[in-house]
Amino acid sequence: MISSQEATQIINNHLCSFPTETVNLAEAQGKILQETIQADRDFPPFHRVTMDGIAYDFNQLQGDNPTVVIEGMQLAGEPQKILSQPNQGFEVMTGSVLPQGTNTVTPYEDIDIQKESGETIATLKKLPSEKGKNVHPQGYDRSQNDGLISAGTYLGATQIAVAASVGRAKVQVTQSPNVAIVSTGDELVDVDQQLEPYQIRQSNNYALRAALANHQVSASFYHLSDSLEKTTAGMAEIMEKHSVIILSGGVSRGKRDYVPDALKALGVKKLFHRVKQRPGKPFWFGMKDNQNAVFALPGNPVSTFMCFHRYFVPWLEQSLGLPEKPIRWAMLSNHIKFEPELIYFPTVLAQTNNDGQFLAEPIEGHGSGDFANLLRCNGFLELPADRSHFRQGEVFPFIPFT
Ligand code: AMP
Ligand code: MG
Repeated sequence: MISSQEATQIINNHLCSFPTETVNLAEAQGKILQETIQADRDFPPFHRVTMDGIAYDFNQLQGDNPTVVIEGMQLAGEPQKILSQPNQGFEVMTGSVLPQGTNTVTPYEDIDIQKESGETIATLKKLPSEKGKNVHPQGYDRSQNDGLISAGTYLGATQIAVAASVGRAKVQVTQSPNVAIVSTGDELVDVDQQLEPYQIRQSNNYALRAALANHQVSASFYHLSDSLEKTTAGMAEIMEKHSVIILSGGVSRGKRDYVPDALKALGVKKLFHRVKQRPGKPFWFGMKDNQNAVFALPGNPVSTFMCFHRYFVPWLEQSLGLPEKPIRWAMLSNHIKFEPELIYFPTVLAQTNNDGQFLAEPIEGHGSGDFANLLRCNGFLELPADRSHFRQGEVFPFIPFT
């Protein structure tokens, strides 16, 4: 039996690398970028007017309430216009190019406009504080060819917006694996089946598929019955089709727990079996020829859920190309006592209080089969194995599951 830290180390040393694919920007949301996205032009690409008003040359202003003769209008989306007289100006609109010969904009709120003998004259009620007011200069934010988004970045709304603005209709991302989710157990029936009093409906597969969907990863369901032959034959087929496999159940010490033997028969190298933790002690992890990663999680729903979020999600994120996430810390809101020399992952409801502290309240259920208790929680805390008393106010790693 190994420690949770050792298990983590082994898993992180066996990342998969998935191929790169090119997708339309509209489908890139939630994917991991596999290239650098550069600025195709300066940001902004021209001296951009930021207020509706008038543009003129600051150096031409005279007196406390200077006047500017308006010689035309520069609208957004029009090519740049050129001032014919240095002391005149243009009406300009937000988003338009700054007319050539001007350098400063005063908004309509700060001017009066009058028509006098065919001329439009603006009087400034207030002098601009400096030259260049209300103009966003070309290249002020970023220069052409600057790297904007690097490989290994999660593509959220802001990244998609920036990619669109530099003309990237297609982007290269990590191709997500289709994960095999394999339920084991003769007692399990599917959600839409009639069931006998001694049977239960399978739920782990649905939990895992929903959690994978949060990472834009799809899944296929399989169900193996509790026989060594059938488990071996079933797993052989599944391993042909899927590089990433998550099993639930069949890894404990029961008389019909055949998963480790079946995987051994198929040449999957066992990297560990059993971790000093509660829940989730029977957790098994192995790989075949660097082709198939097999996470055989204990079947009890709380154990499955904990092992998935604590071990599988960080492995998946790094395999997709994301950097390792920093630990999230939460402060224990109540005292907890736990005697066994195991890492303990109590279920908690963690929320930020009015003082800005992220407080985790332990909400302990009735063991690892009590998955209805998860409805009241949003994560697990990770409490070290070498202690048995954990005090209110101490901080520990928090593993979210929502
Ligand atoms: P096992 O590790 O196979 O002994 O399973 C441990 C417990 O988890 C048993 O009570 C199983 O019925 C339950 N279990 C296993 N797989 C699932 C599943 N897919 N959905 C719900 N419960 C399951
Ligand atoms: Mg079973």
